[in-house]
Amino acid sequence: MAVIVHQQLGMIDPRELNAWYDRAQRDLPWRRPGVSAWQILVSEFMLQQTPVARVEPIWLAWIARWPTPSATAAAGAAEVLRAWGKLGYPRRAKRLHECASVIAAEHGDVVPDDVDTLLSLPGIGTYTARAIACFAYGQRVPVVDTNVRRVVARAVHGLHDAGSPSARDLGDVAALLPDGDTAPKFSIALMELGATVCTARNPRCGLCPLGHCEWRRRGYPAGTGPAKRAQRYAGTDRQVRGRLLDVLRANASPVTRAELDLAWTTDTAQRDRALDSLLVDGLVEQTVDGRFALCGEGD
Ligand code: SF4
Repeated sequence: MAVIVHQQLGMIDPRELNAWYDRAQRDLPWRRPGVSAWQILVSEFMLQQTPVARVEPIWLAWIARWPTPSATAAAGAAEVLRAWGKLGYPRRAKRLHECASVIAAEHGDVVPDDVDTLLSLPGIGTYTARAIACFAYGQRVPVVDTNVRRVVARAVHGLHDAGSPSARDLGDVAALLPDGDTAPKFSIALMELGATVCTARNPRCGLCPLGHCEWRRRGYPAGTGPAKRAQRYAGTDRQVRGRLLDVLRANASPVTRAELDLAWTTDTAQRDRALDSLLVDGLVEQTVDGRFALCGEGD
């Protein structure tokens, strides 16, 4: 009969990690005192898929202009898309605007503080719901992003990388959380360690505050999965979509198809496909006379 051996998970010492965070954390504007739950939510939307350095100036301008959900909801969807600027993946802007509208209309202009209600809001998934509950409301919930998965894979499981996301990830991180009120700091510190020290390509183990790392103890065994390729942007449909949106952002009134076509002339089939996808996503709309506009500006 086969014997199943349950391997004891290694631990990450919360005192080591939290003390390191106290001295090494980056000074990011959405972490400062006085930042509201809504403003933290905005930062989390922007930080999905966009680096901190590009998010910071847009976030500062955004919250100065629209500090609350109701202020954001009162802006037109097109204005929100313009303010999103070059952050990329503009569906996030549309979802953020929808999220603001729901919070303003159904939650008294206050971001809900429980994970299940957060998960019911537009644009909020497993990671973002828990990030808001933890970072904005100080709750003891596992917050799992790519950086956290990588640190846990290395320090706890002794693996070079975390592999594909799995349903086990939340439980893995939940098991590491300390009891009591140090858990929220532990969560943000784990993420910060992955973002700044235990990075994907060149982990700076000499600066690592963890006394025990299972991957280091094993002598840094190589990963077994395929090497990740850097994502290219030039020539992709994403770039074409960006070019088309640039034309519409620059025009307060609808433009003709011929004006839009000038945005991308190298591959007309790709341009048509990109425009179709923008229409399907609801980021662009067509007027009755066949011109094109940002969502909400096609009347
Ligand atoms: S010792 Fe190196 S690999 Fe291990 S957690 Fe620290 S930075 Fe990551």
